[in-house]
Order: sequence, then C-alpha cells, then structure tokens
Amino acid sequence: MATQTLMDKLVSLSKRRGFVFQSSEVYGGLGSVWDYGPLGVELKKNVKDRWWRAMVHNRDDIEGLDAAILMHPKVWEASGHVAGFTDPLVDCRTCKARFRADRLGDAACPQKPSKHPGEHSTCDLTEPRNFNLMFKTFMGPVEESASVVYLRPETAQGIYVNYLNVLNSSRQKVPFGIAQIGKAFRNEITPGNFIFRTREFEQMEMQFFVKPGTDGEWFERWRGLRMAWHQEIGLNPAKLRWHEHGQGELAHYAKAAYDIEYEFPFGWQEIEGIHNRTDFDLKRHQEHSGKKLEYFEPATGERFVPYVVETSAGADRVTLTVLADAYHEEEVEGETRVVMRFHPLIAPIKAAVLPLMNKDRMPETATELYNDLKKHFTCFFDDSGAIGRRYRRMDEVGTPFCITVDPQSAEDQKVTVRHRDTMVQERIGFDAVLPYLRERFG
Ligand code: ATP
Repeated sequence: MATQTLMDKLVSLSKRRGFVFQSSEVYGGLGSVWDYGPLGVELKKNVKDRWWRAMVHNRDDIEGLDAAILMHPKVWEASGHVAGFTDPLVDCRTCKARFRADRLGDAACPQKPSKHPGEHSTCDLTEPRNFNLMFKTFMGPVEESASVVYLRPETAQGIYVNYLNVLNSSRQKVPFGIAQIGKAFRNEITPGNFIFRTREFEQMEMQFFVKPGTDGEWFERWRGLRMAWHQEIGLNPAKLRWHEHGQGELAHYAKAAYDIEYEFPFGWQEIEGIHNRTDFDLKRHQEHSGKKLEYFEPATGERFVPYVVETSAGADRVTLTVLADAYHEEEVEGETRVVMRFHPLIAPIKAAVLPLMNKDRMPETATELYNDLKKHFTCFFDDSGAIGRRYRRMDEVGTPFCITVDPQSAEDQKVTVRHRDTMVQERIGFDAVLPYLRERFG
C-alpha cells in the first residue's frame, strides 16, 4: 500500500466510522485540531486505561495525579519554557508560508510540492527566528502582561510542583513515581499527519523520583518496561525501535534520552520519550520558589534533591499508531475486506450481537443476550442488512467477536461466535458466551 494512500484511507475510515473528525468542520475546520467520535473516544480511552493500569494500578510505587492545565506563570520561567521552548521559524516572502527551519527537508514547497522550501527558483526564505510554542492567555478580566497565563505545553511540571504534596500525603518513599494523563498545548509551526502532531493533545507522563547515583539503573529499567508496554497493547514489534539522542540532540537538562519510534507510513517517528532529567527541574523550582524540595531519607539520614526518570507518551500519537498498525486489507471471495486488527483489550467494541433474521424470536433472544453482555463489555447490536455486510462493518471497526443468533438457536440454545481475524465460526451455548468473552478480555 502506498504511503499516502494508507494515511488517506485511515483519515477517511476514521471519519466514516466515527473515530476522528476534523474540529469545527462546518466552519472549514481548525488547523491541526481534531475531535474524537464515538469509536475514537473508546479507543483512546482504552489506550489511556491500559497505560494507567500498567503505570498506577499494577504498581505499588507510583501514585496518580490530575494537575490543572493553568499554572502559576513562574512555573514556566523556572522550567525554562518561557525563554527556551522555541522552534526556529522561517517565512517565505514569496508564498507567505511558514516552516520549521530544522525540518525543511520534511516540508513541501507550496509552489512546487516536489521540492523542499528554499529549493524552487522563486523561494525567498527569511533568516530563522525563534518562535515560542506556548499558547498564552489572560487570567481575569484585564488583558495585561501581569495577568498572562499559559496553557501547559507538557504535564510534567504539574508533577514536579506537587511532588512533595504527593510524598507527604501518601506512604511513598524515594524511589517512587507520579503519573498523570492530561491535555497539553503547543502552537506547532508545522503540525500535520492527521493526529500525529496537533496543537492540542493529551500526554501520558510519569516522573520517577530516585536517589542520585541510582538514576542510570532506573533509566534502563524504565526503557525496558515502556517498550514492553507498546507490545502488550498489540503493536508490531518489527515496527518499533529505539532512537538514542546524541550530544547535539540532548535537551540541556537531560543526562540521557531515548525515543521509542514507530514506522509510520510517513517514516520512523517518535511516539514516546524516556529521559533522565536529573535534578534539573526540582532544583529550578527550588530556586525560583524559594521552597526546599529536598527529600530526607530516613534509613541513612541523608538529604538530597531526587533525580527524575521521565516516561512521556502522547495518547493521541499512540492512538494513531494503534490505528495505523491495525489497518489491514485482504481479498475475500473477490472482495476487499478491510479489517482493523486491534488488540482485543483496546478494541472499542468487544462484541457485536446479531440476530440472523428479524423473525422467529431471533431479535428478542439477541436483545436479551446483548442486554446481558453490555453490563460487562462495550457491545453493539445490529439487526440491519445481510449478515455478511454486518460482519464486514464490524471488521472495519475492529470488533473481535460477532455473536449471531440463528433459527437453530431456539432449538439447541447455542449461538455462533465469529472471530474477526480468522473469520472462523464456532458454536457455543448461551450460558457460555459471558465466560467465553470474560476469558478473552479479563
Ligand atoms: P516532537 O519532536 O515529535 O515534536 P517532542 O520531542 O517535542 O516531540 P516531547 O516533548 O518529548 O516531544 O513529548 C513527549 C510525547 O508527547 C511525544 O513522544 C509525543 O508522543 C507527544 N507529543 C509531543 N508533541 C505533540 C504534538 N504536537 N501532538 C501530538 N503529540 C505530541
């Protein structure tokens, strides 16, 4: 499948089946802002739930947090974002388009898309200038500089400024972590590739606080755990790889950084970063706030500012990865079958209940089964159209199981379970359906 074709197909399927819509579409859309439809919201929620389960519920050493999007403006001075969260921007005086100076090779010249900006004879690019990516707004009724606040460009700072609150209110001791899922905003110069790079997005971030000197070991441990998680949600391991930040790429605060990359139709790209952020952020907040952010270690009587190992993934970006990884086309009986092979645990609909015909109490029996199952799983009831078409509709949204009530069901108290990936069908008793699905979805 050609690169662009696959992305086009994903965008079109997402709209047609209710995964993702362009924001404010009736007004012509808002650049690189997207809305999640009925199936998209379930898919993304499942991604976030799996992350929360792995990072918070399944561990004794990580606590959850939900910090506000708006924070004291000094937070962003201390973190370095006011001064340094910039991308180099160039304008073309001829076509008025704007580009990231460090990504010209990825951009197309609007006048001649086969060339990069600057390569066409009439291109006239300005010198790069730094552009701050933070969205600014005003708190209260007066629009003056004293009331400027920012929409957070990352969730991590909400964790740093709450680290002592969490420590003092929980029974944690260093090493321990704080995890949070929440919106972040960046006024990206060149957003794009559907929900890959957007101006409003959600992050799933965890900051792990450790004793200095043990940070290297924890960094390696988190690298292993995070790569394993992406495989647990079903991503193809052959399309995942590490990218180590070299000296020129490393953020000024980081001692080491690796990205987990996925091979998208548009190339290998970051989906999660694992960073050793040292004690940079806590020390900066200590300096700027004048409040001590040290940890007292009872066992040794030592005081220190912990080092931080961060894992930072984008919920939207992982959702796009899941969509791209799941998309399959195959020939079945002379027709193209589109099937989203989502891992069953993140599939938006777990099972569909289908009466084969609208007669002989088949709809009533199917409705009863559906009402029972939907208390436990997200289910879908569909009684319209030929059964083959109904199966295809469920394949296209990645429903792992279709349960069909047919004329024989009244006689043998059994239904047919059809498997999405193999299309194999098996007959099981009414009473066996719930345990059957439970076994597969936990
Ligand atoms: P990139 O270089 O791709 O802009 P980054 O290195 O700035 O990413 P981080 O600041 O490390 O990204 O953010 C952590 C994660 O947040 C990224 O791995 C990505 O999944 C997600 N993320 C960052 N920026 C965006 C965005 N504009 N849209 C969607 N997700 C994003």
